[in-house]
Amino acid sequence: SKLRVGLLFGGRSGEHEVSISSARAIAQAILSDQNAQKYELLPFYIQKDGRWLPGEIAQQVLTSSTPLQLNESNTQSHNQTSLPIPTSPDLLSSSSTPVTDVDVWFPILHGPNGEDGTIQGLLQLMQVPYVGSGVLGSAMGMDKIAMKMAFAQAGLPQVKYMAINRAQVWSNPCVFPKLCDQIEATLGYPCFVKPANLGSSVGIAKVRSRGELETALDNAASYDRRLIVEAGVVARELECAVLGNDNPKASVVGEITFESDFYDYETKYTAGKANLSIPAPVPESVSSAIQEMSLQAFAAVDAAGLARVDFFYVEATGEVLINEINTLPGFTATSMYPQMWEKSGVPFAELVDQLIQLALERRG
Ligand code: ATP
Ligand code: MG
Ligand code: MG
Ligand code: MG
Repeated sequence: SKLRVGLLFGGRSGEHEVSISSARAIAQAILSDQNAQKYELLPFYIQKDGRWLPGEIAQQVLTSSTPLQLNESNTQSHNQTSLPIPTSPDLLSSSSTPVTDVDVWFPILHGPNGEDGTIQGLLQLMQVPYVGSGVLGSAMGMDKIAMKMAFAQAGLPQVKYMAINRAQVWSNPCVFPKLCDQIEATLGYPCFVKPANLGSSVGIAKVRSRGELETALDNAASYDRRLIVEAGVVARELECAVLGNDNPKASVVGEITFESDFYDYETKYTAGKANLSIPAPVPESVSSAIQEMSLQAFAAVDAAGLARVDFFYVEATGEVLINEINTLPGFTATSMYPQMWEKSGVPFAELVDQLIQLALERRG
């Protein structure tokens, strides 16, 4: 009999729409001629309020033709990430698809409550295998402060940064100016202010002055209790895809180029704004260093299954700095992760098949 794959998508983060888009592509791959004899698709849509909708409704969300759109309300609805997850009568009473029917889960949720170990903890408790990193790897990969500590420990070069918490930004009016002084003295301008636990550049600002710094800190604090400020580098942006469990492989390296000031949400999700070059036109020594560092980063955070590792290549000095790891990277047909594997000899449908097999292999 076929293996029943529970595709979990949507989710309670600012990357909800991206997740739907990724899930559509994965669903198609599961239903493709190549995989259809092996797998049955059971979609589960998690609404923005946290409610799980299985069966027909989830299927409708997957097959509706609404394309992924830049939706400012996404990025504004972030306060809901601190709400408790409501109990889900729809799910519990559903006769269409009980969660117990699932043989293997494929969570394709990006950002908080999806990529950060929370859903992985739930799936772990269910004792059903799931695609991707476990609780630790997901949490380490999501939190940019924990991630950078692990990278530093592994000897991976990265930009100078400061870890900050919301209390320093909001609570004490005497502390805030001193904090800004310290950031200016340590990192200078331009610097990047980021919520520690997010993705798709949501909540990130490039700042060039004291006024912009103050606004950016206040904004980032509205997304997350933990923040990070990094020294800005002028660099080319290279990425590498990792696939596997204990003996993972690195893909060819890809490059992203764009006209905008940095690789922000709009640039990421507006067709034509970003250009992908795979393989990246860089010296072989640079791409092999990146592949090596990607595998080290994957191990450093205890990732599993898949990850996309992002780098800065400072061409002037030849320096390669690691930026971050994403344990559930964007997975639409045109996303970097599947594209890099495609160019490395693993087509999309086969990639999805391998990821499911890696989940089964990791069990126990
Ligand atoms: P993703 O969608 O890849 O998960 P993210 O939200 O985790 O993204 P980052 O990758 O940390 O965010 O940063 C987003 C973009 O901001 C980078 O791709 C780059 O364009 C720019 N950027 C971030 N940090 C720096 C930096 N220190 N120096 C220069 N540019 C930076
Ligand atoms: Mg990221
Ligand atoms: Mg991400
Ligand atoms: Mg990134």
